[in-house]
Amino acid sequence: MPKPQYTQHFRDSWLQDPHLKDWLQVIESTAGQVAKCKFCGTTLRSHYGDLKSHGISKKHLQNKKVIIMQPKIPFKPQPTGSRKKEEARLALFTAMHTSIRVVDHLGETLKRFDLRLENLMGIGTDNTSVMVGVNNGVYTKLKEEVPHLILERCLCHSLQLAVSAAAKEFCQEIWSS
Ligand SMILES: [Zn+2]
Repeated sequence: MPKPQYTQHFRDSWLQDPHLKDWLQVIESTAGQVAKCKFCGTTLRSHYGDLKSHGISKKHLQNKKVIIMQPKIPFKPQPTGSRKKEEARLALFTAMHTSIRVVDHLGETLKRFDLRLENLMGIGTDNTSVMVGVNNGVYTKLKEEVPHLILERCLCHSLQLAVSAAAKEFCQEIWSS
């Protein structure tokens, strides 16, 4: 007779467990609640033994060192006015659409905010191909409608990507030596 298989589910008590509480978080997925490591960004099997092993794994301890060494940036949530809500709606709209859809539906969205596409002076975006690609990027598509449009690539985003990649290489080099 085959051994019965038991499925272990995530337990909220693990979030208070002294071995896990510093890094464990729970996320909702289609398969239900899943364990995730804050330091490594990986999802883990909801099994206490696996989680404990992960907490003492070399990769986890290296990532923990990197995160603990990073200075904390003080962040206070700001009250959201109606203008901020409109800006957030536009940002979410952009994030949810591919470039062609963005341009197709942007006109409708702007109308809802009583704005006109031809008054658009410039756009600030990250450097993904969806936004700045020369063939089908949002900027290229928009420029067909608005020839005077200026593109401002997000320097902070580029800098953040470069610093993250450099820090990863640098830290791995230090800890592996
Ligand atoms: Zn981890």
